[in-house]
Amino acid sequence: MKILVVEDEAKTGDYLKQGLGEAGFIVDLARNGLDGLHLALTEAYDLAILDVMLPGIDGWQVLQGIRRAGKELPVLFLTARDQVDDRVRGLELGADDYLVKPFAFAELLARVRTLLRRGSKSREPENLRVADLELDLLRRRVIRAGKRIDLTAREFALLELLLRRRGEVLPRSLIASQVWDMNFDSDTNVVEVAVRRLRAKVDDDFEPKLIRTARGMGYVLEDPACA
Ligand code: CA
Repeated sequence: MKILVVEDEAKTGDYLKQGLGEAGFIVDLARNGLDGLHLALTEAYDLAILDVMLPGIDGWQVLQGIRRAGKELPVLFLTARDQVDDRVRGLELGADDYLVKPFAFAELLARVRTLLRRGSKSREPENLRVADLELDLLRRRVIRAGKRIDLTAREFALLELLLRRRGEVLPRSLIASQVWDMNFDSDTNVVEVAVRRLRAKVDDDFEPKLIRTARGMGYVLEDPACA
């Protein structure tokens, strides 16, 4: 799952990016309102965290821009302790929740998970499953045959993509653009390396093997029993 953080204070922004990354999310950090709005309108995010006071355009304008474009992703905004009116205004403008600075990271993470759960209720299942492999999308957990498997955020995103499109051969270029947000450069073997690492974790010690190489084409994840 992908989260956009718009925060101009370097320390807070880095802290959020790192913490959410460690919690298993892919995080884009924008340090001003214009960059934040641009990202929100051009990329697909599952949630946005907006600071209110930003240089250029403020958090409210970013929020308005997001809602005007018809984007319904949940938005959590960060407000200063003494700005009680902010909360009302934010919720009126279409924010889903707020947090008063300074906040404990655990609190932020709990809010983020609640919003994602609420937002995903009608749209997506919380778990993806194939054979004895299970992905818990909210808790960012992977379990195979009852065993917990630790994945990096990228590995998780890669596995999530393969699982969502199970049975389909996914070209490397598509994987690169979806998981790394980059245009595929034929010189890089970043996808191969990541798939190899992922297999070592989710397939090597288990049967059946779920990730298959479609030679010259890409990768496919499927349960051989159902293929
Ligand atoms: Ca600020």
